[in-house]
Amino acid sequence: MVAALPLPALHASHAGTWLRSANGETRGVAKGEAVTLAADTPALILNAPLVATRLGYPDLSGLDLLELFAFVRPAQFCVPTPKGLAHATGLPEPASDDAVPELLQRAAAVLLEQCEAADWPQREGAWSILQSLAKLRWPWAAIIAPHIARPERAEKWLFSRLPEWEESPERPQPAQVLIEENEIEGRLERLTGEGAERREGQRSYARETGGMFAPRGKDRRPHVVLAQAGTGVGKTLGYLAPASLWAERAKGTVWVSTYTKNLQRQLRQEARRAWGETRPDGSKPVVVRKGRENYLCLLNLEDALQGGFGGRAAILAQLVARWAAFSADGDMIGGDLPGWLGTLFRKRGIAALTDQRGECVYAGCPHYRKCFIERSARASAQADLVIANHALVMINAARGRDHALRPTRIVFDEGHHVFDAADSTFAAALTGQELIELRRWVIGPERNSRGRRRGLAARLADIASYDEEGGKAIAAAREGAEALPSEGWTQRLADNAPSGPLEALLAAVRALTYARDESGAQDAGYGIETEAAQLDGNFIELAGQAAAALAAIRKPLIRLGVRLEKLLEEAPDWLDAQGRQRLDGARHAMAWRIDLLSAWEALLDRLGGPADPEFVDWLAVDRNESREFDIGIHRRWLDPMKPFARVVLEPSHGVTMTSATLRDGDDWQSAIMRSGAPRIEVQPRLVQADSPFDYAAQAEVLIVTDVKKGDLAALAGAYARIIEGCGGGVLGLFTAIRRMRAVHGRIADRLARAGLPLYAQHVDPIDTGTLVDIFRDDPAASLLGTDALRDGVDVPGESLRCVVMEQVPWPKPSILHRARRAANGGSAHDDRIIRARLAQAFGRLIRSREDRGHFVVLSPAFPSRLLTAFPPGTPVTRLTLAEALQRLGSGVSESEPAVTESQDT
Ligand code: SF4
Repeated sequence: MVAALPLPALHASHAGTWLRSANGETRGVAKGEAVTLAADTPALILNAPLVATRLGYPDLSGLDLLELFAFVRPAQFCVPTPKGLAHATGLPEPASDDAVPELLQRAAAVLLEQCEAADWPQREGAWSILQSLAKLRWPWAAIIAPHIARPERAEKWLFSRLPEWEESPERPQPAQVLIEENEIEGRLERLTGEGAERREGQRSYARETGGMFAPRGKDRRPHVVLAQAGTGVGKTLGYLAPASLWAERAKGTVWVSTYTKNLQRQLRQEARRAWGETRPDGSKPVVVRKGRENYLCLLNLEDALQGGFGGRAAILAQLVARWAAFSADGDMIGGDLPGWLGTLFRKRGIAALTDQRGECVYAGCPHYRKCFIERSARASAQADLVIANHALVMINAARGRDHALRPTRIVFDEGHHVFDAADSTFAAALTGQELIELRRWVIGPERNSRGRRRGLAARLADIASYDEEGGKAIAAAREGAEALPSEGWTQRLADNAPSGPLEALLAAVRALTYARDESGAQDAGYGIETEAAQLDGNFIELAGQAAAALAAIRKPLIRLGVRLEKLLEEAPDWLDAQGRQRLDGARHAMAWRIDLLSAWEALLDRLGGPADPEFVDWLAVDRNESREFDIGIHRRWLDPMKPFARVVLEPSHGVTMTSATLRDGDDWQSAIMRSGAPRIEVQPRLVQADSPFDYAAQAEVLIVTDVKKGDLAALAGAYARIIEGCGGGVLGLFTAIRRMRAVHGRIADRLARAGLPLYAQHVDPIDTGTLVDIFRDDPAASLLGTDALRDGVDVPGESLRCVVMEQVPWPKPSILHRARRAANGGSAHDDRIIRARLAQAFGRLIRSREDRGHFVVLSPAFPSRLLTAFPPGTPVTRLTLAEALQRLGSGVSESEPAVTESQDT
């Protein structure tokens, strides 16, 4: 085994703190001593923010093994735990906490040794970046330097090394083809593999969903399929079978849209069976496409590398440059950039390297031909299968740059989320944060900020100087934007000293919300809200002034848009080909900002008049632990599937929405309404494939009746005992972050001492995806979380043996919820939401035929009408905590068939 690196190493868990000296002696130390020692001599640590949290010392710094890993093995994955690091470096797992410091010393040695190896695959660029990191005083730089030889020839720098994308001709429209059912079955057989077990449910599912690819009979009337597929049916290959056949014959593109990154990952793998990695010409038949804010913007990175970022953020930029050279697609969120890298650097460094605000200058950018975003857009235009997410599909349909590239055959997997995605896509929010973004887009950033971010005038400098009319419009928009909120607006509002008409309106929103909110959230420190009704004359007047100020920005933008169009037609000699592309890009970015301004004006104009029954409007102050971070007026569609139907369904030819939890029990009615199909008078085809799992033998629902609601000590005690009873492997779901934190705080140390690590969203400084990776990797670990974990977790096997819900997941009684509840049958609406949430949470438990597990709800009064949320046949038992612990201890199959309740009661 490689010799340990002779530097002190520090490890802290909830169970204690251990320090190993440079010469190899490990001992337990008190937190205070560890902090003092780490401040004197930089120690090897793993995941500094996490260790800092455990030690209660936020300023802790040291030699973080994760930073070393990111440098030596860019674009590679490592679970950021001692065990994960051991796997990644080929070392034995540490048997206990006190063995971790030695592991850190050895893992560091392995990584440094790799830098000396002749076959180090990521050598290119390492020496040059290390020189920059040394100048930035990265603590690792001096330690790594002796291990990396200076290259004989100067290394090319990142921006000249990345490959260029190539322009390809537009795809003709797809052929109208009819796919026979037996062909679909044949394709499915090929995809599942010779000799694979024939699953009738999957076959009929594939045949039926294939119906979406039939040629359309009427204009604006697509084929819509709603397909309920129980867990384990194999729905992914079920729809990929007809999709791949159609794409092959029709030479068209199918989009599969998901809600979670997890499913995207899985789809990427499964799609390989149908298409393979590359076509004979080298192009990719399957492309993952995300929103542009996910990708690295090379221009932002260049700016960050050249002084735009300072301090620790500058080190992050260098490590991102290392990664960019080896990344498959430049996707920073959920791609091959480790999710933990951003959290090591605290501030919003990763976000600042993406194109968040639509400031892209397109062909005016020196890296345009190498740009990851442009590459992915071009690749998807030629692809057979595009894997995307619901929000992107909707945004693309609503305001895609190129009509020819809008999706027309779409499978919405995780279809139960389409409603929520449509709800946010078609919402309008006139808030301080949004307004300040607009200000920066028009005027540019505030004086004291670093970086290349520039305003409209700088991005269109040639128009401003060569074209009088365009120049005037830019100047007018800029002048108008001075009325928007600027830096420090929240403080001015708190001091009752707003500046300009928009801040004045926001101040009125704030005052009224505090005056009227009765939700009880004021004292709890949560966000507060009140409906936009009964507004007095003064408020309406302020709204009118704000609307006029917004119009004073919108109008010159419209003039500018018309002018740009003219210039593109006229093609004056000062406008070269690159300039044309840039103008075209700018025109597009402007069009959606004009739409945004119009939507805000419409929202303000209606405030004084009668309420529009199509919309729900409210005023809100967003707060986190009593700290205000945004204030504004919100508008949602009462039924967001109305605009969805018009924008997404109507222009498409075939759409499938599929999920394990599309229906409410046996009832299709709400699924049909929530598909949007009735809005365009289309009768959807309904498909159902039941799960092949034996829920009666594999799972058990335990309703624990003696943990009183509101008794935090009892709740925490119940969680601890359940986790101990199961020996870890518990996913704990909460409806309130505050309660989750409190439970975690009370039990994490006790469990850690028993060798049962407990992680929690919003507590551990780790992104959710990485938390799930950690949980999956360690069968003794348990994880607490909120909504995102309810259906974003796919952990088959040992690591997930029990799901615990702290209470019945009632919907939050917001103003929006109240309006939808009233419009959709009152308490029946609530019940539908709760059943859907229970079904999604239950769905985490049994992911394969071999899985066994318990689903525990801590609820003294769990209504029987909610039991249809669970798959038919699943045994349900009401019992005390003590009885539940006994059953958990004996495992599912060994449990006595106790007094159970039928789901039909
Ligand atoms: S083309 Fe736009 S997104 Fe791409 S690197 Fe340049 S500025 Fe960034």
